[in-house]
Amino acid sequence: MLRNLKNRVHVSSNNATVRFFTCSSVAAVSNNSNPQTHFEEQTRNQSGSNVSVSPDTRVYISAVLNCRNIFDVKKIHAHVVVNGVFHVLAIANKLLYMYSQFRAVADAKALFDEMSVKDSVSWSVMVGGFSKSGDILSCLRIFRLIIRSGLNLDSYTLPMVIRVCRDKKDVVVGRLVHDVALKFGLESDRYVCAAFVDMYAKCGMIDGARKLFDEMSQRDLVTWTVMIRAYADSGRADESWLLFERMRNEGIVPDNVAIVTIVNACAKLGALNKALIIHDYIRGMIFKSGVILGTALIDMYAKCGDLDAAREIFDSMREKNVISWSAMIAAYGYHGKARKALELYRMMSKNRISPNGITFLSVLYACSHSGFVEEGLEIFNSMHDYGITADVKHYTCMVDLLGRAGRLDEASRMIEAMTDEKDETLWCSFLGACRIHKNVELAEKAAKSLLELQPQNPGHYILLSNIYANARKWDEVAKIRNLMNQRGLKKIPGYTWIEADKIIHRFSVGDRTHPRSKEIYDKLGNLTEKLELAGYIPDTNFVLHDVDEEAKAGMLSLHSEKLAISFGLLATPEGSPLRITKNLRVCGDCHTFCKYVSEITGRELIVRDANRFHCFKEGSCSCGDYW
Ligand code: ZN
Ligand code: ZN
Repeated sequence: MLRNLKNRVHVSSNNATVRFFTCSSVAAVSNNSNPQTHFEEQTRNQSGSNVSVSPDTRVYISAVLNCRNIFDVKKIHAHVVVNGVFHVLAIANKLLYMYSQFRAVADAKALFDEMSVKDSVSWSVMVGGFSKSGDILSCLRIFRLIIRSGLNLDSYTLPMVIRVCRDKKDVVVGRLVHDVALKFGLESDRYVCAAFVDMYAKCGMIDGARKLFDEMSQRDLVTWTVMIRAYADSGRADESWLLFERMRNEGIVPDNVAIVTIVNACAKLGALNKALIIHDYIRGMIFKSGVILGTALIDMYAKCGDLDAAREIFDSMREKNVISWSAMIAAYGYHGKARKALELYRMMSKNRISPNGITFLSVLYACSHSGFVEEGLEIFNSMHDYGITADVKHYTCMVDLLGRAGRLDEASRMIEAMTDEKDETLWCSFLGACRIHKNVELAEKAAKSLLELQPQNPGHYILLSNIYANARKWDEVAKIRNLMNQRGLKKIPGYTWIEADKIIHRFSVGDRTHPRSKEIYDKLGNLTEKLELAGYIPDTNFVLHDVDEEAKAGMLSLHSEKLAISFGLLATPEGSPLRITKNLRVCGDCHTFCKYVSEITGRELIVRDANRFHCFKEGSCSCGDYW
């Protein structure tokens, strides 16, 4: 490599490359607000101070840092070799750093191998060279070499390694790195700690992340935001809210990123009161109400059940992009208003906004949730007119659309014709349709594909077991149960949230932890009696176990949404609507239960489940039993 560079430098040694090394470029660098201050600091520390660096070295360093592309770096690299200053560690490190900035990992590696002297900075840059390219093995290999060579690990190198583990979701290696951090006494360093919080959270170990977070003596805004987002991503948005309140109480002022994060968490929570509070807060602060925040607000209001407020935000946005349009279309879809979604979709072209893949997803979703089969097919077929290739998500919408309408054979053919890899969401949609239309044969096929794709997901076993239970194939049900036990899998817990007196209450199935538990169960008992008099019959198809009818009814009656509704009836003013949010799909029996509750109590019930909104009023639901 060196020889090649030498040859090249002969060609260019009389022109621009040489003129590049002027005093003005040194001045330019000293004024340069290069973001890599941490790296600069390290280099300074390593050479004692900048004063001890010779003027020549400084000229080279500034030239390297001024490189605008990989070709500049290579030219200067050649010059450094030709002029015999390659042995100056500070220069070689800067070259290494610039190669890594331009993601030229192979060049960085070649240079690194040529260096006869290396220090902790060189090693750190190499870790960063590999971590940016996602090469976890090389990154860890270098990391191991650093430890073996007895060099000091620092709060710059370690977070890079931790981030690789995070990106690869490799918590096993992450834990080993954590042990190393403890060994080097870096576990309480705030950069290191923040990186671990982020890694554990992204790897789904939310409680471990929280424990570390609580142990931190200093937390910056980024770490708070990471933790708030982690709760929202793991289905515990109520805790996102509590943490956000605590952050504000500790005097930490959120920035735009933190605000968008909490708005997204509110969307997941589906609590309208919290949405109103956060929106008021935003109005009172000086935030750039740009297109990202505006779009997040649309989504929040839509998911909190206030479609009008979502539309108001949409209409008031001065700048809208294709994502904002898509969010509003999705909002209508979510509320089962396909006609409105289609209207907005057509308005886009009038406003000269070209739809993208997400827009099509939103509009197809709207069609599928309202049973607009022909419109959906037409739009799906028009995608290639916009140069957009349908991916597995679009196919999933189409399978859902056809499947729900009972056109299972067409849906099945569409799946078979797909060239893309089929994922679990696609099969889940198809399976849902097979269940609604009681096609055991196709359902079995879909469920088996799911188990092959994700043998560790308990939900798929439950689905297959459900299918067999519906077909009364109890032997098969038992087999699936055994398989689950053998593999140590547990069912995903279902939660329902309801807000009363400004507090969010969370219920799980058969929950007795609520302080008003006794009252809640009494209320539920009374309510069920009244509903049964009005004609409600528990639909025991939604209980999986091979037990008698009475016991099945008992299990159903304790579903978390029923507990939340009973509590809501006790804790909210007579006649006011009940808003509840469920993290999984609402079951058929709870759906019927809600219809009767809305009829008997005269209350409106706005139920958001993992898939959509159900607005129950006077005994019927806005979804038209289509979900
Ligand atoms: Zn239920
Ligand atoms: Zn419904």
